[in-house]
Amino acid sequence: MNVRGLLDILKAEDEFEGFIRAADEARARGVGDCVHLRGLIEFSNYCRKDCLYCGLRRSNAALPRYRMAPGEIVEAALEGARMGLGTVVLQSGEDAWYTAGIIEKIVGSIKEQSGLAVTLSVGDRIKRDYALWRRAGADRYLLKHETSDEALHWTMRPGCGLGDRLRNLEWLMDLGYEVGSGIIVGLPGQGIESIARDVSFMRDLGVHMASAGPFIPHAQTPLKGCEPGSVDLTLRVIAAMRLELPWANIPATSALGTLDPLAQLTALGCGANVLMPDITPGPYRKMYEIYPGKVGSLETPAQSFARCRKIVESAGLAVGTGQGGCARLPGRAGRSMANDWTDRKDA
Ligand code: SAM
Ligand code: SF4
Repeated sequence: MNVRGLLDILKAEDEFEGFIRAADEARARGVGDCVHLRGLIEFSNYCRKDCLYCGLRRSNAALPRYRMAPGEIVEAALEGARMGLGTVVLQSGEDAWYTAGIIEKIVGSIKEQSGLAVTLSVGDRIKRDYALWRRAGADRYLLKHETSDEALHWTMRPGCGLGDRLRNLEWLMDLGYEVGSGIIVGLPGQGIESIARDVSFMRDLGVHMASAGPFIPHAQTPLKGCEPGSVDLTLRVIAAMRLELPWANIPATSALGTLDPLAQLTALGCGANVLMPDITPGPYRKMYEIYPGKVGSLETPAQSFARCRKIVESAGLAVGTGQGGCARLPGRAGRSMANDWTDRKDA
């Protein structure tokens, strides 16, 4: 579909029900009727970056900071395996305290002691680090490009260019990770045309996972007072992603559930097939405040897991077993695009 066709889905009024039906059918054909649960462990809220939208940004002096010890991270992952999860996602701010070697050991230890798939989401690093973690057994990497509007990207992520993010995504693909990208919907100044381009960007890149979450303003950021992103538009983006990337794993994001308690269930009917229960241990959960009121932040890991299972059952779908990887083989599937952006630096 070209950008004009995608815009039709994002703007559709009367025909929207038809698009939703088509996306739901594409989900069933492309990835089946199982919803995969990925246990999210948010292991550090320190960050060296200053993204305008994010509560973890380094300039937010009001946020109490924490770091989980490596052994604690491994134990939280093994607890996830005991709960019946097939994948853990290790996520953090960009925190140099966790050297490449420390993360390598954490990944290796989880892989040695469990049958878990390990997804990393620790931001921008050098290619050597990504390679080391892949060799240690990391299976997947989440690195959202956030917005493919180059000027907006520079504004929202000071000092970070879209080309650098894209180069990292291509490195990750070349290293054989299953790679996830995604966007924030409703960033101030983001046009609907650029959202349509985001969807074709992820299709052309051939990502294995694609995500869309609405922007939620945080009081301790420069974007406080801005309007939140639209739940309805985010659901349309999910439907458009499913139609364009039928092979991909697509989450019903927590940001959706934060703005509307029913939206994650609705998202499962619009093409999404993944939920990410938060299994971060108790003392830390509230401090990973990307945005306020995050769904599940007051629950225990077991309660988050149970709530996600309930959403899947309410949708009339089954909880997936095993690792629930992408059927499309790892490696670079789409065309190379890093050269399309001028801030590209040499590897
Ligand atoms: N630091 C890593 C990175 O940026 O890739 C991973 C952690 S970061 C907190 C995970 C995601 O949170 C980002 O990719 C971004 O899309 C999302 N995020 C941050 N602030 C947000 C906000 N205010 N509203 C919605 N999503 C937000
Ligand atoms: Fe740091 Fe990620 Fe938040 Fe940006 S989005 S400030 S990189 S945690």
